[in-house]
Amino acid sequence: MTPAARPVFPFSAIVGQDEMKLAMIVAAVEPAIGGVLVFGDRGTGKSTAVRALAALLPPMHAVVDCRYGCDPAAPAAYCADCSARADEHGPLKHRLVPVPVVDMPLGVTEDRVVGALDLERALTQGVKAFEPGLLARANRGFLYIDEVNLLEDHLVDLLIDVAASGENLVEREGLSVRHPARFVLIGSGNPEEGELRPQLLDRFGLSVEVKTPTELAQRVEVIKRRDEFERDKTAFLIKWKKHDDALRRRIVAGRKRLADIELPDAVLEDATKLCLHLGTDGLRAELTLIRAARALASVEQAPAVALSHLRRMAPSALRHRLRRDPLDESGSAVRVERALCDVFGA
Ligand SMILES: [Zn+2]
Repeated sequence: MTPAARPVFPFSAIVGQDEMKLAMIVAAVEPAIGGVLVFGDRGTGKSTAVRALAALLPPMHAVVDCRYGCDPAAPAAYCADCSARADEHGPLKHRLVPVPVVDMPLGVTEDRVVGALDLERALTQGVKAFEPGLLARANRGFLYIDEVNLLEDHLVDLLIDVAASGENLVEREGLSVRHPARFVLIGSGNPEEGELRPQLLDRFGLSVEVKTPTELAQRVEVIKRRDEFERDKTAFLIKWKKHDDALRRRIVAGRKRLADIELPDAVLEDATKLCLHLGTDGLRAELTLIRAARALASVEQAPAVALSHLRRMAPSALRHRLRRDPLDESGSAVRVERALCDVFGA
């Protein structure tokens, strides 16, 4: 499949949902943030947005015939197959492939996710071979879980572990396989269908809330663009190309500059003050907030992280880490906004 094989709705043409779009861009610039959890009603374009973002990213170089899509520019991170081939034959051939988006189907088994013994080869040829799973396919791309709250806790835990380490280690049925599995985890959750354990919630980097637009003009615009896209996809893509191109350049530049963005002590202190005020547990909150603010600063070509970056990323970095307050019935987003005002002024 070539990168332009199937027309995907352009990311820039998605109406509204600014917080979701920003969180996804930031996670694509800095995968160490640990993924995005999107809460919201069905039909709010969550899956469309993931696909659109992946399609917008530049195609990537991948080693030919590698089941994990190893990056030819990073031989140190090669899978065992690629390492062995490179030792024997020198530099490996590569080709351009689209950034993968892998869907996690409901009711999926752990074998299917992490990979397992290839039973057919074991039975017919007596060879112990590894059949890669969904994590292998998601390497260097996005892993999308619809209704993450319906997935078994141990699977969610496993996915977050792999996303954080960038590596999948399978040890079972006499197999011991380690392969790269670096991906941005995007989970969607419908708050009405079961809750995630707080320990799991806390492990997602960012969380956002999406709503079906209730404003008339915005609703009309959503329908108009969708209709225009369905009627003539090519023309619609051409119309939005320059917006998508501009965003692609910002993301690519943001990734390159990320390591050079300064983090002033004063901003770090501000992040800590905010987390103390909100009473978030542990240091993960500050760490994620800082990383997200730094990625935002990088996308916006700022030389250093500023309080404004912190403020904009605070709701998505913190709202899922608040402890329940029986005396405060307001939503978590409201509580974060209020804390921002208390600590930094309006
Ligand atoms: Zn490889």
